[in-house]
Amino acid sequence: MNFSKQEIINILKDDSQNDWLFELADKVRRENVGDEVHLRGLIEFSNICKCMCKYCGLRSPNKNIDRYRIEPDDVISCAEKAVELGYKTIVLQSGEDEFYSRDVMCKIIKGIKEFDCALTLSIGERSFEDYKAFKDCGADRYLIRIETTDRELYKKMHPNMDFDNRVRCLKDLKTLGYEVGTGCLVGLPEQTIESLADDILFFKEIGADMIGIGPFIAHPETPLKDCENGNFTLALKVMALTRVLLKNVNIPATTAMETLNPNGRIIALQSGANVVMPNVTTEKFSSKYEIYPDKSSLSDRDEAERIIKSIGRTISKGYGFRSNS
Ligand code: SAH
Repeated sequence: MNFSKQEIINILKDDSQNDWLFELADKVRRENVGDEVHLRGLIEFSNICKCMCKYCGLRSPNKNIDRYRIEPDDVISCAEKAVELGYKTIVLQSGEDEFYSRDVMCKIIKGIKEFDCALTLSIGERSFEDYKAFKDCGADRYLIRIETTDRELYKKMHPNMDFDNRVRCLKDLKTLGYEVGTGCLVGLPEQTIESLADDILFFKEIGADMIGIGPFIAHPETPLKDCENGNFTLALKVMALTRVLLKNVNIPATTAMETLNPNGRIIALQSGANVVMPNVTTEKFSSKYEIYPDKSSLSDRDEAERIIKSIGRTISKGYGFRSNS
């Protein structure tokens, strides 16, 4: 099944076709990646950030936040515990924090790759040389959402950033042989349905292996504090269409979906998603990575297993690469 941009727009605008779309995405998911759900252990190791993204609670001008940075050795031991619990992929996420220089990151990556796991990084925009060094140390995958492909909106949302550089990052990561993840926010102020269709086509065009889609959630300590939250159903539709068009990619049921709908994780898993990312950050810090308020983190592996089994799905024992290895 392939849709033109106009067909994508029509589907996004017409809610009478939602059940058909969600069932189709569930079928495409089953046929292409099966019933296994991959669990990724997420470590949010620093909430210090030099960026000023208008929507994000970690933005540098926000003074009303308790900043933390986990020591490199502690990041490694946090990952070790997660691998002992059975996680086959560790995801390291942070703000854009320059403390974690190329050398510091390489040390962390090498330490974690001593354990039996795949490693994903999600630490923002870096140089080609940094990405190459991380890959050489054993990093397998990299997540960097494009956030929106609408250049004008991108500029408004990211005051000190450059759309072309973000695309450059995605291309460099592909060139270096990473499995590459991207994605978008749904429901940013002034975002159009047309641009969401472009976002989906962009994921396909750059050959993304993983796609995370979540609704925008207004954070009280940001310039967007009075804006309306994104719409859960629209975010779910963007995710479902992404599954239908990109077929065998890995798609997480995002925390933002669960935050807006108490059943969001399960609904997402039944509308195209095949990945869940429980939070395994040391407890002391786990509530402080507040990109948006009331973040509904899942931190208990048993709870994740229970949810997944309750809908007739199984937990993957593999590393969860796109190629099913
Ligand atoms: N510094 C890294 C990680 C950013 S946090 C990077 O630049 O890639 C991970 C994701 O959280 C972001 O890519 C963004 O899409 C999402 N996010 C940030 N603020 C949000 C908000 N207010 N509502 C919903 N999602 C948000």
